[in-house]
Amino acid sequence: ERKKAEEALKESEERYRAVMAQSVEAIYLYDAETKRVLESNAAFRRLMGYGEEELVGMRIYDFIDHDDEDIARHVRRSLKEKRRHIGERRYRRKDGSVIIVDTSASVISYGGRTALCAVSRDVTERREAEEALRRSEARLAEAQQLAHLGGWEWDIVTGEISWSDEVYRIYGLAPQSVVPTLERFMEVVHPDDRERTKAVIDGVVNDHRPYDLEHRIVRPDGEVRVVHRRAEVFRDEAGRPLRVVGTVHDITERKEAEERLRETEERYRTVVEEQTELVCRFLPDLTITFANAAYCRYFGLQPEEAIGESFIERVPVEDRVYYEEQLAWLNKENPTRTIEHRVVTPEGEDRWQQWTDTAIFDREGRIVEYQSVGRDVTERKVLEERLEHRAFHDPLTDLPNRQLLLDRLAHALARTQRRKGSGVAVLFMDLDGFKVVNDSLGHDTGDRLLVEVAERLKGCLRPEDTLARFAGDEFIVLLEEVEGADEALRVTQRITERFRGPFILDGRELVVRFSIGVALGQGHTKSPEELLRDADVAMYRAKADATDYRVFDPEMHEQALSRLELENELRGALQKDEFTVHYQPMFRLGQQYTIEGVEALVRWEHPQKGFMLPGEFIPVAEETGLIIPVGGWVLKEACRQAKQWQERFPNEAPLDMCVNLSAAQVRHPGLLHDVRSALGESALAPGSLILEITEGTLLKDTQVIETIFKELKALGVRLTIDDFGKEYSSLSYLNRLPVDALKIDRLFLESFGEKPSNTIIVEAVISLAHSLGLEVTGEGVESAEQLELLRGMGCDFAQGYHL
Ligand code: C2E
Ligand code: CA
Ligand code: CA
Repeated sequence: ERKKAEEALKESEERYRAVMAQSVEAIYLYDAETKRVLESNAAFRRLMGYGEEELVGMRIYDFIDHDDEDIARHVRRSLKEKRRHIGERRYRRKDGSVIIVDTSASVISYGGRTALCAVSRDVTERREAEEALRRSEARLAEAQQLAHLGGWEWDIVTGEISWSDEVYRIYGLAPQSVVPTLERFMEVVHPDDRERTKAVIDGVVNDHRPYDLEHRIVRPDGEVRVVHRRAEVFRDEAGRPLRVVGTVHDITERKEAEERLRETEERYRTVVEEQTELVCRFLPDLTITFANAAYCRYFGLQPEEAIGESFIERVPVEDRVYYEEQLAWLNKENPTRTIEHRVVTPEGEDRWQQWTDTAIFDREGRIVEYQSVGRDVTERKVLEERLEHRAFHDPLTDLPNRQLLLDRLAHALARTQRRKGSGVAVLFMDLDGFKVVNDSLGHDTGDRLLVEVAERLKGCLRPEDTLARFAGDEFIVLLEEVEGADEALRVTQRITERFRGPFILDGRELVVRFSIGVALGQGHTKSPEELLRDADVAMYRAKADATDYRVFDPEMHEQALSRLELENELRGALQKDEFTVHYQPMFRLGQQYTIEGVEALVRWEHPQKGFMLPGEFIPVAEETGLIIPVGGWVLKEACRQAKQWQERFPNEAPLDMCVNLSAAQVRHPGLLHDVRSALGESALAPGSLILEITEGTLLKDTQVIETIFKELKALGVRLTIDDFGKEYSSLSYLNRLPVDALKIDRLFLESFGEKPSNTIIVEAVISLAHSLGLEVTGEGVESAEQLELLRGMGCDFAQGYHL
C-alpha cells in the first residue's frame, strides 16, 4: 500500500507535467502576490512569441493589455472567491501585436505559495470576423435609414412629366432647373442600362404595367449611382390609363453596404466553418438557426438535423436551470457571457464545454438571436481539478491540507448553528518523537512513516470524518454531529489502541504514539481558529503530562495565556533588574566540612507574582531564546560576586563559582565570548569558574559538543556534568569529553537506603568517576544519614538543604 501511494503520487505529478507540456491550450502560472510568471508551457510561449527564459519572472502587466487596476481586481476576486475566473483579455505579444484570448484562471498552490494558473486560447480571428460582421450590419441599417426617396408623375394623356425636388437632387441637378422629359430622363440613365430601362418603360406605355426596376444613373459630374424605381398605373372609370405615379430611391449606399455585408458574411462563415470550435446561433426560445460543421461533427448530426432543434436538449437536466439563468444575464450593456456547463454526447458521455454566448439585438434593443461559440474543455477541467486537488491536499499523504481543513471546519461550525444540539469535535494529534525518526533514520523513512500513519488513521475513522495533515507530524481529525465528549473520546481511544502496534519500515519495528488534544464547540461560541487553538492547547497539555490525550477545558486556556504573559514579562525583566542570584554552598567531605565553592542559582523578583524559582521561568526562557541574555547576565553577576568574596577573604583558598548552562546556551555561538567577557570584567581567574552542563545536552551532535568543550577548556574554566543519572545515565561520553567533575542527581539520594539498588549504583558511579579522574558531588542532601552514606562511599562534595 505504501508503494502504491508513492506510485500514485509520482504518477499524478508526471501526469500534470505531461498535460502541461502537451496541451494545445496555452498555459502559464503566476505568483498571486508578485504577479510574476512562474512557469509556462510551449503553447503559451508560441502564442506570445517569447522564449521560456524571457517569460519566467516577467510581470503579467507587461503582456496583458488592460488597465493594471483592472487586472489586479480580477486577481483579487479569483483569490477571494477561491474559484476560477473566466473571461476575455487582450494580450500583447512580444512583437507588439495585440491578440484577444479567452482565459480561465484558477487558484493553485505552487511550492507553498499561492499562484494562479491561466489557460488561454487565441480567439482573435473569430472576434475580428464577428466584429466586422456586426459593423457591416450596422452600416446597412444606417444606409437604409438614410436612403433618399423622390417622387415623380407621368401624365400619359398629355405626355407631361413632373419630378419632385428630391428626384432632381438624386440625378445631381438643381431642383426644377430643367423641364423633365422622357429624353432628358434617358440621358440620366447609365448608357449600359439604357436599353433595359427603355424596354421596361415601353412596357408601361404599351401594356400599362406597374414595374420595379434597378438601374444606374450618371450625374452631370460623372458620378455613377444606383437607383431603385417603382411605378404604379392609375386609370379612369373605364379602365383607361391616365397617369403613372412612381418613386425613385437612391440605393447606392445600401448597395455598397449590402456588398460589404455579403463579403464580411462570407468571411465570417469561412472562419466559422473552418473553426475547430463549435459555433451555433439560436433564437430566444433556444431553437437553433445555424450550426457549423464542427458543431454537427461534435454532436454527430447532419447540418439539417441540427437546425430547428433546441439547444437545451444538449444540456443535461441538472445544468439546464443554471444555463438559462446565465443566459438571462445578457443585456445591451453586457452582451457577452462565458458559460461553462456539461453536455451529453451522442455516445451518452458527459463532457464539459465552455460557451461564449453573445446576444444580438434589434433596433428596439430586444434580443433577436444568440450567437454561441463553444469548445470542449473536459481536458482542461480535469487538469484544473487536479491542480485544485494539489492546492488543497498534502502531496505526501494526499490528505486535505490546512487550508481545506479550515474551510471544512468553518462549514461544519456553520451547520451547527442551523442544527441545534450537536457540535463539532477537533482532535489535534501530534506524533511523539517523530523528529528522532527523521534525524536518525532519514527523511525518506520519516516520509514513509507519515504515509503509513495516515493510512492507519484513516482506518480509525468513518468516511464522513475529515482527516487532515496540518503540518509536519501534526494531524487533525474533524468529527461532525458530535453529541458530547464521549463520542470524540471513543475515536481518540480507538486511535490510541491501533497505534500500539508497530510499523515495519526497512525491516525495523517502529512504535509511534500520538499526543491528542480534544476540543469541542459549536458555531455560535467558537470560530474555526479558536477551536483549533483549544485543541492545540489541550494537545500540549497531553504532551506535557505524557498522557495519550486531554480534553480542552477553559482553565488550560488561562494557563496558556498566563504563559504568554510570563513570556512578555520575562522580556522586560532584565532591563528592570528583577533577577537576583542566590548561592548554595558546596562542601568538601573531608575530616571537616569546608566550603570550597558555591552554585549560582537564579531567582526572579517578580513585581506582582513575587519570588519565582527557575523551574517556573527557565523553561520559557529556553523556548524563547531569552535564556541567552539571562544566562549571560547570571554568568557576569556570579563571576563578579566570586571575585568580591575572594578579595574579602584573601587568606582562604579561592572560592569556586559553579554556574549552570542550559543546552541552548551551550550551543549558542556567543557562549565563548560571554564567558571570556564575564571573566575579563570581573578579573576572576578562569580556574575558579565551573560550568555545569546537564547530561541531556551532550547526547545530540556529540562532535559539535566536543569542539565546544575543548574551546571552553582552552579558556581555563572547569566543566561539570550536572544531574547525572536523572535521565540518561550514559557513561560512554565521559572519557571522550574533557570534563572535570560529575554531580549525582538528587533523585538517587531521595530513596537512598530504602532502595538498595540506588545505593549500589551511586557507589559504582563514584568509583567509576574516580577511575576516570573526575570528582563527584552529591546533590540534594537533606539528612545526616544521606551525608554519612555519601562520605562513606568516598563522594568528594555535597550540597543540599541539610548543609
Ligand atoms: P540544578 O542545577 O540541579 O540546581 C539545583 C537545584 O536543587 C536548585 O533548584 C536548588 O535550590 C535545589 N536544591 C538544592 N539542595 C536541595 C535539597 O537538599 N533538596 C531539594 N529538594 N532541592 C535542593 P533551583 O534553584 O530551583 O534550580 C533549579 C534548576 O534551574 C537548576 O537545577 C538549574 O538546572 C536551573 N538553573 C538555576 N539557575 C540557573 C541559571 O542561572 N542558569 C541556567 N541556565 N539554569 C539555572
Ligand atoms: Ca546545577
Ligand atoms: Ca543538578
